[in-house]
Amino acid sequence: MGSISKDIDSTKLLVKQADKLKPLQPADKLQFGRSFTDHILSVSWDVNTGWTEPVIEPYKSLELDPAAAVFHYAFCCFEGMKAYKDAQGNVRLFRPERNIQRLNRSAARVALPTFNENELLKVLIEYARLESRWVPEGRGFALYLRPTLIGTGADVSVSRPRSALLYVIASPVGNYFGSSGVKAISLEAASSPVRAWPGGAGDNKVGGNYAPTIVAQEQASERGLQQVLWLLGDPSVPEEHYITEAGTMNLFVAWVNPETNTKELLTPPLDGTILPGITRDSILDLARERLVPDGWTVSEKRVYMREIKEASEQGRLLDFFGAGTALIVSPIRSITWNGGVVDCGLKEGHEIGDLAQTVKKWIEDIQYGETEHPWSIVA
Ligand code: PMP
Repeated sequence: MGSISKDIDSTKLLVKQADKLKPLQPADKLQFGRSFTDHILSVSWDVNTGWTEPVIEPYKSLELDPAAAVFHYAFCCFEGMKAYKDAQGNVRLFRPERNIQRLNRSAARVALPTFNENELLKVLIEYARLESRWVPEGRGFALYLRPTLIGTGADVSVSRPRSALLYVIASPVGNYFGSSGVKAISLEAASSPVRAWPGGAGDNKVGGNYAPTIVAQEQASERGLQQVLWLLGDPSVPEEHYITEAGTMNLFVAWVNPETNTKELLTPPLDGTILPGITRDSILDLARERLVPDGWTVSEKRVYMREIKEASEQGRLLDFFGAGTALIVSPIRSITWNGGVVDCGLKEGHEIGDLAQTVKKWIEDIQYGETEHPWSIVA
């Protein structure tokens, strides 16, 4: 009988628990992404035989051939999601099927193998459950899960990898702002370099999108600005600059629309240059449900820097914030652009706008199980 190419099968999951568990770090000492839990979940793939049985085993280093495709041509995609602990001590995942879907989509974009999403979700939930002692308690605390898919085939010809490894590791995360509460950030708008471009891979979570952003990020930091605001449009024509994302967050602008004179919450459309954020999608859904009855319009449309500047000058800019799994909502104080500073409308002495605060609470109440909602899944 010839070999049959198999898909991921959650019923074949093999769990080898670590004999010796690592000590947990105090919650106030947690540094994002630097320490990892006791176990790794992995599934490997080969072009001839398909996916192997999933395995959860003690956390370990990987052994890869130096010619492995991931090292040369960035055959790599990943996800960022969190497990939260609710007041009853349950571990909850927030719309995890969306992360799995996005991983599959990213995989297809960079010629990595795709997989059965339901089956991966089942083993991921099993993994989150097994690592539950690592999910810290309290608002702002979570266990960050990092599903990763890499091309492992030892082959430096530029071609589709013949083998791959999908693994999940996890890192406990503390409250980013500590006890001082949320802090607004300032952005440096950059029209060059660009993060993503029409027809590129910016709408996928592939490793190759991230390394090229660090130098611009460091330069912004040296000038005292916390994140880069990624623009598109001819760098030499400021009137054409429009906003895409900031750092690794989607963006939301709340303003009084100059044409209708009514309140509008808007975010750039998924035109291929924007990562389809799960936080973005959740905010859009909740805003359509909860803000529209109050007279707001909720839109996905392109917005130009000149429009934001004009709204700021005319007192029509109500709120401006980034959105992503890391901080849910990150309030923005100002944008350095085209030789000037655009004030984003935060009230004197405030670190977060009213709308940003409301939206953050909507999402966190669901994530921490305080509002029962189908998006929050008990592991
Ligand atoms: N944009 C980029 C470029 C990102 O890397 C992320 C983080 N995944 C986001 C936006 C926010 O996406 P999400 O809400 O799914 O975390």
